[in-house]
Amino acid sequence: MKIYFDNSSTTAVSPAVLDEMRPYFLTQYGNASTLHSFGRDARAALDQARLGISQIINCNPDEIFFTGCGTESDNLALFGTMAASGSKGHIITTKIEHHAVLYTAQALQKAGYTVTFLDVDKQGLVSVESVKAAITADTKLVSVMQANNEVGTLEPIAEIGKMIAELNLNRANKIYFHTDAVQSIGKIAIDVKNLGVDMLSASAHKFNGPKGVGFLYVKRGTNIFPIMYGGHQENGLRPGTENIAEIVGMAKALQLAYQAHDEAAARLKIMRETLKEGICGSIEDVSFNGCAACNIGNIINVSFNYIEGEALLARLDAHGIAASTGSACATGSPSHVLAAMGVDPIAAQGAIRFSFGKDNTLDEVKYTLSVLPKLVNGLREMSPLWKGGGVNVKARPKN
Ligand code: PLP
Repeated sequence: MKIYFDNSSTTAVSPAVLDEMRPYFLTQYGNASTLHSFGRDARAALDQARLGISQIINCNPDEIFFTGCGTESDNLALFGTMAASGSKGHIITTKIEHHAVLYTAQALQKAGYTVTFLDVDKQGLVSVESVKAAITADTKLVSVMQANNEVGTLEPIAEIGKMIAELNLNRANKIYFHTDAVQSIGKIAIDVKNLGVDMLSASAHKFNGPKGVGFLYVKRGTNIFPIMYGGHQENGLRPGTENIAEIVGMAKALQLAYQAHDEAAARLKIMRETLKEGICGSIEDVSFNGCAACNIGNIINVSFNYIEGEALLARLDAHGIAASTGSACATGSPSHVLAAMGVDPIAAQGAIRFSFGKDNTLDEVKYTLSVLPKLVNGLREMSPLWKGGGVNVKARPKN
């Protein structure tokens, strides 16, 4: 039995998405910037994909810019707006962003910009008041993720957007608002106007689309520079021959995810609750990280105190179950997200993320629950931190 509970790191491409992509590899492989029929076909597919995505997130097609991934979208949003701001301005972000934002903000800091990294509460929530309090006359950009990739907490994006819009009414230099929606798009309905964002990052491989393609929504009128130079593609903001097959696949995947939101949310809720109740009922000394009432819906982050999360992952893997300790991009390092949330180091060390997707079943959750207690208990017996110091310690002769 092979069980994939790591859908926040990536997902399988849906067969319908692959079918939609196939002709653009084999027969309609034209370059969208060329004028012959192959190029015109590619251009038509590109326009159609842009239109489909724009309708889903409620923007104009010319506000969608295709990129190579979520990381690129985040980099473009941060570097691009700061480069265009003309002076070394101020950026506000949070301590729990994905490294695609966090490290980009740190790079901007090294380049001379001022960056505020906001604290979050125990649930991983950033408060609107803390964003407002951090704003100065020099603030050019606020970047807050919509859903955290390790614990699933949903941030109050619409409320922050509203607050920034009100402040902008009386400011000469506009504050732009960016959200990294890589973990939320495809799971919840997104309306960029309701959210009040100027930029929004997305990545297809998180919603059953292909890897290596994403987009950045950029509201008309946003002052942004490209971060790469070359051709005139994507209105000059993102040069490079467009990857038509993947862009078409992303549009199809988003359409399918959007149509299935409600049904998927109900299924995911049952799986999450079953796993949570099963763990609580069979394993002592566990705690759940994140916000139960404001979770993106497919993530459970659970701490099995007194064990190493990575040791448990290896044992789960030996039973065919794939989970994660948090961000796939930061495997092996302590979680900056749990640290920012003030999670006790012993709990943080034993934290595991289960992230569900559209193909998971309740039977898979039940199978996981049938093996989890003995794996956790086995590791605890070897742990010098567990009650009584663990068998190895107790067995050690006194001398
Ligand atoms: N932002 C968030 C919140 C993510 O979870 C990820 C990937 O895990 C990224 C950005 C980066 O996306 P990509 O893998 O497409 O570069």
